[in-house]
Amino acid sequence: MSTALQALSEEASACTRCGLAAGRTTVVFGSGSATAALMFVGEGPGAREDEQGVPFVGRSGQLLDSLLAEELGMDRSDCYIANVVKCRPPDNRDPLPDEIAACRPYLKRQLELVDPTVVVTLGNFSSKLLLGTDVGITKLRGQVYRFGDPERHLVPTFHPAAALRGGAEVLDRMRADLSHAGQLVEAG
Ligand code: URA
Repeated sequence: MSTALQALSEEASACTRCGLAAGRTTVVFGSGSATAALMFVGEGPGAREDEQGVPFVGRSGQLLDSLLAEELGMDRSDCYIANVVKCRPPDNRDPLPDEIAACRPYLKRQLELVDPTVVVTLGNFSSKLLLGTDVGITKLRGQVYRFGDPERHLVPTFHPAAALRGGAEVLDRMRADLSHAGQLVEAG
């Protein structure tokens, strides 16, 4: 990890900016390459992530790992993976607006420091947050957006948990989105 990302991770590990701090075991800051061209942004840690301090290590993570290998020929260590909120919401409930707002500066800084050319948002929370929209993921996906300053490509896709629930159709769309993201990474 770069020194600046490491320092930010250490700062986050003691964070008490929102109520999620009280219930967490571990702050799940992010993992992967600090210089990745491709960054994934999920929603928030679940039980396994909270135990291990690593994003996407549960069932959703296993699916993400296989899709990464199959559609992009990549390992998770080739990318950077983070979440909208860094602490587990109780009973895996959705993160609340004040929790998202409190955690947002960490994600903003992670994006600046890793400086990916392509960001894949997984599900509604990260897609809506980074695109600043209320439009849902089913409508958003299938297109590439430009966002941020400096501008990056943003490819919104379903959360792996939705693919686990939604079956082949959702999974096929997710595969197409990831493959598209891979092409954008290769194009630089
Ligand atoms: N779901 C997420 O959105 N993030 C994780 O890290 C794990 C599951």
